[in-house]
Amino acid sequence: MKKAIYLFFTVALFYACHEKVESVVEENPQIKALVPQAQANKFGIVIHGGAGSIEEKGMSDSTKVAYEKKLEEAIRTGYAILENGGTAVDAVRETIKIMENSPLFNSGKGAVFANDETNQLDASIMNGKTLEAGAVAGVTKVKNPIALAYEVMVNSPHVLLYGEGAEEFAKKQGIELVDPSYFRTEKSYNALQRVKAAEKKKKANNKTAFYNEFIHNSKYGTVGCVALDKNGNLAAGTSTGGMTNKRWNRIGDSPLIGAGTYANNKTCAISCTGWGEYFIRGVAAYDVSALMEYGGKTLKEAAKTVIHEKLPSEGGGGLIGIDAKGNMVAGFNTPGMFRATMNDQGKLEIAMFGAN
Ligand code: ASP
Repeated sequence: MKKAIYLFFTVALFYACHEKVESVVEENPQIKALVPQAQANKFGIVIHGGAGSIEEKGMSDSTKVAYEKKLEEAIRTGYAILENGGTAVDAVRETIKIMENSPLFNSGKGAVFANDETNQLDASIMNGKTLEAGAVAGVTKVKNPIALAYEVMVNSPHVLLYGEGAEEFAKKQGIELVDPSYFRTEKSYNALQRVKAAEKKKKANNKTAFYNEFIHNSKYGTVGCVALDKNGNLAAGTSTGGMTNKRWNRIGDSPLIGAGTYANNKTCAISCTGWGEYFIRGVAAYDVSALMEYGGKTLKEAAKTVIHEKLPSEGGGGLIGIDAKGNMVAGFNTPGMFRATMNDQGKLEIAMFGAN
């Protein structure tokens, strides 16, 4: 009994001191500068599977379960890497691959169709420790564009490769290529036919009316992942088929560093989803980081500012983020966003609808 009481007080004292030390470090910038790894054992991961008109009333139970299962499988894949001391970059890449291999999302297998009935895929990844980044755009035969983006980052002197050149590089790096028909799903093909029919009804030059129709009747479905590893390093990645009915080799925000993806150990890691043109013009992912770095905002405040104040209301979408302390955010201005988080305690949260 005596032993147990002694043990209890020792443990209580340890935790009391630990908290105290943390708050002393937090409150004193000079001390904080001396212990950059003070939060080093924190880690966490956030994923999204796209934002848009994702509403409970429009979704069958079986569809909901399918999304939940896949989101869980994906986030647990990255989580296991982080828990075992792996890097944030590896966690992001492997997590995104799981979602790319699923027809549920607008990335990899489930990519949407462009106007010419091809699937043109974009992806990017960024390492917050080194600020290195890799991206690919307009690839039509790469099974996992995020894996190719990773190769661009670590095994090429470039950041962004496009189209056939990117596929040549994929071959050289031994990245799996597939026949373009691999990406055809009836769901995406039918969505293209619906959008084309809606477009016909609108005046050809009425861009806003057309896209409003598109946004309110569809979801984006791009996938993304951000992670903080046990060494305090951040990473972000995003992968997409772009927007249904895109034309003229349109490239969205997802493969553009700063627009759809950004990571910097000084601030945060961000992956965006939504109407890409607005995210490009707003340099949205970097804007969250800049608001933290230069504006002194927290991750939560910065994300809120970008989503709800800086993006125009017609620029529908959302973003996920994680900062160097393991704070996580998943926000959007659309009815819903597929999302999940896991913190270093292994607490898993999956959500699709409602408030953010
Ligand atoms: N942001 C992507 C794009 O514009 C689409 C999405 O997020 O689903 O290409």
